[in-house]
Amino acid sequence: MRQFLDQQNFSLLPFNTFRIEARARHYVRVEQVDQLAAALADPALAALPRLVLGGGSNLLLTQDFNGLVLHMALAGKAIVGEDAGHVLVRASAGENWHGFVQYTLEQGLGGLENLSLIPGTVGAAPIQNIGAYGAEIKDVFHSLTAFDPATGTLREMRAEECRFAYRDSVFKHAEGRGLIIVDVTFALPKAWTPNLRYAELAQAVAADGITAPTARQISDAVIAVRRRKLPDPAEIGNAGSFFKNPVVSGAQCARLLEQFPDLVHHAQADGTEKLAAGWLIDRCGWKGRNLGPAGVYPKQALVLVNNGGARGADIVALAKAIQADVQARYGVLLEPEPVFI
Ligand SMILES: Cc1cc2nc3c(=O)[nH]c(=O)nc-3n(C[C@H](O)[C@H](O)[C@H](O)COP(=O)(O)OP(=O)(O)OC[C@H]3O[C@@H](n4cnc5c(N)ncnc54)[C@H](O)[C@@H]3O)c2cc1C
Repeated sequence: MRQFLDQQNFSLLPFNTFRIEARARHYVRVEQVDQLAAALADPALAALPRLVLGGGSNLLLTQDFNGLVLHMALAGKAIVGEDAGHVLVRASAGENWHGFVQYTLEQGLGGLENLSLIPGTVGAAPIQNIGAYGAEIKDVFHSLTAFDPATGTLREMRAEECRFAYRDSVFKHAEGRGLIIVDVTFALPKAWTPNLRYAELAQAVAADGITAPTARQISDAVIAVRRRKLPDPAEIGNAGSFFKNPVVSGAQCARLLEQFPDLVHHAQADGTEKLAAGWLIDRCGWKGRNLGPAGVYPKQALVLVNNGGARGADIVALAKAIQADVQARYGVLLEPEPVFI
């Protein structure tokens, strides 16, 4: 008997936060690690293109998927060990990210609070090294377990092998692209200190009259700020920030500043400058504008939204129009953050 249920011509509408209708030729919900090996050994499925799906919050479905969707629903989280300075906490790939952050706080552990309320699953968090409010998962990452379809085996990977960078990791490149993450372990500090490097977060905490915040209080502040600024995918389809913040050379930034003295830029340790993509889009007049059923969120120009009934092509057309305007005005190419399917 088969160890998994293969569903065909399966609608992905409920499983992507842009709320775009697209169908998968085959769909398998993965609740046990063994099901991965079994599905990938199945003669009807083995040779098909694969899409590993978490919460669908960083995807843009531009067409039906003529292959196998492996929907990661592996569950479980626990404290698994400690060393002198850290407590090790592990979660399976299908666990909801925000639920996991809240679990760590309930255990009295800080370290993930700045990353509260990011949608999606634990298994997808390393893919683009999720980050927000001055923190990235690489700061507290310990290791992960990945299933390698090429060998049919599990392997442990440490931070160096994952090659984390700004919204990037080995899993987005040829060497790591096929790997399927089954669990992730974080090393959370025993001697926790707040990370209030991000000015808006520091201001939100100070505005509540808190001088020595706990990790829980920082999480609450992050949740409040995010709810104010970002659309809830349950109400309006979106995938969060649609473009990465572009990184340019110091010289290019200096030239731009001569022409646009109020350009928002942040110096990086290597001498490059990170520009605020939302600011560039806003200055090109796109904030709050619609193109067909796709639009730019009125409160945050970095977020593209599905105003209802948009197809992937509608979002792509809007993204291209924005890219063209930003390129023409600033000479900077905006790179999309979500994965296009
Ligand atoms: C409102 C909103 C706000 C957001 N804010 C932020 C933010 O502040 N910071 C940030 O970094 N991101 C943010 N995002 C983007 C998104 O939440 C993250 O990228 C998240 O990690 C995606 O998780 P997911 O489970 O939904 O992944 P999916 O969208 O399902 O998949 C994303 C990619 O990861 C791959 N993948 C998923 N699971 C696995 C696995 N187990 N093994 C191997 N590959 C896998 C997929 O194949 C795909 O390539 C936001 C999105 C929304 C909708």
